[in-house]
Amino acid sequence: MTEESCKKQLKICLDAEHAKCSICLNVWHDVVTAAPCLHNFCNGCFSEWLRRSQVKHSNVLCPQCRAVVQFVGRNHFLHNIEEDILQTDSSLKRSDEEVALLDTYATIKSPLVLNTGRKPRRKRARSPQDEESDVVDLPCPQCGTELAGFQCNPNTIHLQCQGCGGMMPSRTNTSAPQHCLGCDWAFCGAYWHAQRVTESNSHPVCSHETFETISDRTITRIPLSAHENNRHEQDITARCIGQMGRTLQDVISDWITKLNNREIDRSRMLLNHAAMITSGTHLCNDCYDKLVSFLLYWFRISMPNHYLPPDATQRADCWYGYACRTQHHCEEHARKRNHVCRPTRGSHM
Ligand SMILES: [Zn+2]
Ligand SMILES: [Zn+2]
Ligand SMILES: [Zn+2]
Ligand SMILES: [Zn+2]
Ligand SMILES: [Zn+2]
Ligand SMILES: [Zn+2]
Repeated sequence: MTEESCKKQLKICLDAEHAKCSICLNVWHDVVTAAPCLHNFCNGCFSEWLRRSQVKHSNVLCPQCRAVVQFVGRNHFLHNIEEDILQTDSSLKRSDEEVALLDTYATIKSPLVLNTGRKPRRKRARSPQDEESDVVDLPCPQCGTELAGFQCNPNTIHLQCQGCGGMMPSRTNTSAPQHCLGCDWAFCGAYWHAQRVTESNSHPVCSHETFETISDRTITRIPLSAHENNRHEQDITARCIGQMGRTLQDVISDWITKLNNREIDRSRMLLNHAAMITSGTHLCNDCYDKLVSFLLYWFRISMPNHYLPPDATQRADCWYGYACRTQHHCEEHARKRNHVCRPTRGSHM
């Protein structure tokens, strides 16, 4: 295949009328899809609809077709289409103020399970086998059982934990975070810890170590994703820390302090809401690894050359720096050039 044919893009005709939210009648903004009817709305518009349905303690009905909504989530494919439409016809764009206001309503971060289609059953005399299968039927530990002063009702919206696949009620009146700020996915570790639910043989529950504040976490190994997965650089970083007589945890703690004091440029931090992250932020395991990798980049880049192990001090910087692709398939190149540096040329092929 020639390079040209690889770049060929499928062109489709699209009527912007078909990309409009039936609540606000504008082209979608941060589009979400309701299931099973698959109608689409702005995140902000649908979130407000959701909030009102919750106040009324009623089922959430689709604003367009009135079907019971069982599930709602952001639609990344349609999000790209929404952006393409607005780029093609800027007259369809809303003002920045309107968009900002809409964003303040938007509460759908990770997929929401609105209606499990099952109602908690009334307690009745039954054999132990029955009891067990009944409990398994219910989506979360707080469905059908009051725990820490809360019990789900049939209209409670549930979040599915990205870590264990278990369900937890979506709560606004609790201090325990239910979403990771780095990826916006739902995680149950902090929530169940706050509810004092540690384990349950009928429901998956994450341990609280999997979703903790940055300052409460401990790190003992360099993440595999550090230094763009380049194990030579990881090895140099590890020896560097050892030579200084310190531990990885010491180094990370120092850099978290600098992060808190806003002393580090965050543009290479591969996390959502990077500007909001502090040592008190809860992060999931993956996002914590990304944060540590980001901090190790800064640790290395700000390190005077003579602190590096002897075999690493003589290496010239690769022109393509951390963005170099050759480091991933050429062992020798990865070893001979320093890749913990900024690119001085555009990335190659
Ligand atoms: Zn809308
Ligand atoms: Zn619908
Ligand atoms: Zn529940
Ligand atoms: Zn995360
Ligand atoms: Zn979980
Ligand atoms: Zn290179």
